Amino acid sequence: MQIRFLGANGQVTGARHLLVMNGFRVLIDCGMVQERDFQDRNWQDFPDDATQLDAVILTHAHLDHTGWLPRLVKFGFNGPIYATHATAELTELVLRDSAHIQEEDVAFKIKRHKKEGRKSPHPDQPLYTQDDVEQTIPMLRPADYHREIQLRSGDHPITAKFYEAGHLLGSAFVEITEQTDSGVKRVIFSGDLGKKDRPILRDIEYFTDATKSVDAVITESTYGDRVQDETETVDEQLAKIICKTVRRDGKVIAPVFAIERAQEVLYRLSLLRRDNRIPSVPIYLDSPMAVEATKIFTRHPECFDDKTRQLLESGYDFRLPEMQFLRTAQESMKLNTMSGPAIILSSAGMCNAGRIKHHLANHIGNKKNTIMFLGYQAIGTLGRTISECPKSVRILGAIYPVRAEIGSVHGISGHADRGELLRWMEAIPQKPHKIFVIHGEASASQSLADEFHRVYPQTTVTVPKYGETFEVA
Ligand SMILES: [Zn+2]
Ligand SMILES: [Zn+2]
Repeated sequence: MQIRFLGANGQVTGARHLLVMNGFRVLIDCGMVQERDFQDRNWQDFPDDATQLDAVILTHAHLDHTGWLPRLVKFGFNGPIYATHATAELTELVLRDSAHIQEEDVAFKIKRHKKEGRKSPHPDQPLYTQDDVEQTIPMLRPADYHREIQLRSGDHPITAKFYEAGHLLGSAFVEITEQTDSGVKRVIFSGDLGKKDRPILRDIEYFTDATKSVDAVITESTYGDRVQDETETVDEQLAKIICKTVRRDGKVIAPVFAIERAQEVLYRLSLLRRDNRIPSVPIYLDSPMAVEATKIFTRHPECFDDKTRQLLESGYDFRLPEMQFLRTAQESMKLNTMSGPAIILSSAGMCNAGRIKHHLANHIGNKKNTIMFLGYQAIGTLGRTISECPKSVRILGAIYPVRAEIGSVHGISGHADRGELLRWMEAIPQKPHKIFVIHGEASASQSLADEFHRVYPQTTVTVPKYGETFEVA
């Protein structure tokens, strides 16, 4: 059993891990790179032979775990793509939206570059088109949690199994086993692990089977060096920012990830309004994808936690009369000229694409407004730049002064913090022989690796680099 690291090494996006078991090749996740400095990688060939790949397994639907799939198919991959039911549905949405955004962005860029007489460093074409996505979608194979998937049958069967990761609707960590002549080899891929006690979703599961030996665990480390500050609850922070902005007649502009974050924030706003903790102002969800994702959420109550299910069963309607879900570009543009306080939730969550860029351009120069960040902003994204409160910022090719208040709500992250990552690992009864730490900025990955090394002196702990290959078992 061999593993090759092909992304999310010393960075958080572009997750791709190739597992080779006695000639059988499985790719765990196939993500797009979103950090600006590494985006060239999206344009490179697949570092292995895509036609020789037997299967892909997705841990969850986020673009940094699924967004490169249509490219893989272009390079000749033609096998099954396994995912939980909710992940399969959300992945369709994510990929269609991704192709759409790329086609739009390229059209916009060509126009702008022509005007400026500049030449783009990337080809003036989208990474993939709607057609490429439509070729990819029929390859998705939805699977249940906790049910063994036969990746390969015969004398040396290979199986996979999904467990709840508590990170996103449908998110899973994956156990993969290979029957060999010398016994069962087992690896666990964490995917992205969620924080406990978040609204809507079930909590992260632990791997507790004491009869199972574990050869390697590949774990994320987004917050590997951070313990999340719990002094003020997420709801208190949200209410504070909204009330303050509404008092000065301003708008709250919140970049949201269209899936999960948008639904979580709507859920929180719904209950804050019910309890009269925020004033009644229009709340716009300006993201066709988030509107679609909200629908998919309502179709998967099996992924909800008890509290959410009980609220729904009691007949509570999370959709407030104040909430408006916008779809068309015309509806979106109307917000530019609208006066008075409002809350505008728009995607992408790290401001690197989509309608949020237009809302930022229109509102960042006005000191009445607040730009409210609701989660992790990767280095090199527009969101990260703005969150560091620069004097001015370049958006859609023009420079804007930053006069709006820049606020951040902490603790709303979809990611487990250091303590939770350690607890998840500690819960595995038979200590893994090897731990690989991925999906974090270099310092976060190293910090978590150092701690694993201290706690498990018998275990080999590695922070792999892009392209490196390791023998697992
Ligand atoms: Zn994720
Ligand atoms: Zn991720």
